Amino acid sequence: MLDIKLLEKITSIPSPSGYTFHLINYIENYLKDLGYKPFKNQKGNLFVEVKGKTNYKIALSAHVDTLGLMIRSIDSTGKIMFAPIGGPLLNTYDGEYCKIHTRDGKVYTGTVLSTSPSIHVYKDARTKERNMDTMYIRLDEVVYTKKDVEKLGISVGDYISIDPKFTYTTSGFIKTRFLDDLASAFLLLEYLKELKQNNITPNNTLLFVFTTYEEVGHGCSSIPNVDEILVVDMGCIGADLSCTEEMVSICAKDASGPYDYMMTSKLITLAKENNLNYAIDIYPYYSSDGSAALRGGNDIKCALIGSGIQASHGMERTHIHGLENTYKLIKLYIENK
Ligand SMILES: [Zn+2]
Repeated sequence: MLDIKLLEKITSIPSPSGYTFHLINYIENYLKDLGYKPFKNQKGNLFVEVKGKTNYKIALSAHVDTLGLMIRSIDSTGKIMFAPIGGPLLNTYDGEYCKIHTRDGKVYTGTVLSTSPSIHVYKDARTKERNMDTMYIRLDEVVYTKKDVEKLGISVGDYISIDPKFTYTTSGFIKTRFLDDLASAFLLLEYLKELKQNNITPNNTLLFVFTTYEEVGHGCSSIPNVDEILVVDMGCIGADLSCTEEMVSICAKDASGPYDYMMTSKLITLAKENNLNYAIDIYPYYSSDGSAALRGGNDIKCALIGSGIQASHGMERTHIHGLENTYKLIKLYIENK
C-alpha cells in the first residue's frame, strides 16, 4: 500500500530547481531514519546505495526539483516581475498563491496575476496573453513603491514557489502541482522503505538518485559509476499518445532520442507478462535525466518509465492506479534483472 501522505508531504516543501535543499534535507533525514546512509554530490543530488548480491550497479533516478519562478525586477509601484525556473505553463499560474523566499530566510506570500487583473478596469483582462512580461506578483504586504518592497528584504534573485494545492479524491485521483517528478521520487522512497522493512538484499547493487536540476536540463549529467539507469519520471498523456492516468508509461523515445533497446524491451515484456496496465509511447517535447546522463558522457544504458501525468507543467493530475502500476514495474525490473 502506497502511503500517499508522504507524497502530500514532499509536494508541500518548496523545491524549484536550485532551491531544493529543504526537500533534499527532508528526504535525507527520512532515509537516515529508515537506517540508510545517504550522501550528496557538490551540486546537491542525493544518493543512496543498497548493496546487492552482485556488483552490477543499477541506478534508479527521480528528480526532486520542480518548476518555479525567480524575481527579475521590481517596478516603481512595487510590482514584482519574475522569470520562470524551468518551463511552467504560465497561463495556469494566473491567480495562483505563491511564496517569496528571501535570501535571509524570510517568507512572504503573494498571488501571481496578469498585469490586467481586474475585469472592471482593463479591456484586455480576458484576452491578454499570459507570459512573463504580462504577469507579476501581488505581494501581501502594504507596499506602494520599489523601496517599500526592498525594505522587506525582498530582492532580485529571490525564489518564488507556487502553492501545490494537493488533493486526493475519493475516486483515486491525485491532483497537485509537481507530480512531475515528485510522484516518482515518492515511489523510490516507498521502494527504499520496503527494501529496508523486509530486509531485502537485491540481486544487483542499487544506487537511488534524487536529482536537483532536471527541469533546467542537467540533473543527472554526472553520476557515480553505474552500469545502467532506470529513470522514473512523468509519463506523458495527450494527442497521439496511448497512456492514461491509470497506467505506467514506458517511453521508447523522446525528443532527445531513443532509450536503450534491451532495457525498454525488458520493461515491456515484464509489464505484459504481469498484466500491468501500461502504455508504450513516444514523447514529442520531452527529455529526461537519462538524456542528461548520456549527454554528460556517462557510459550507461538508460530507460524511462513513469506514471501517466495529465496536464504536465500545468495543473497536473494522476491516479493511484498509475502510481501502483509504476511501482510494480520498478520492482519487477529490479527483481528480474
Ligand atoms: Zn520531470
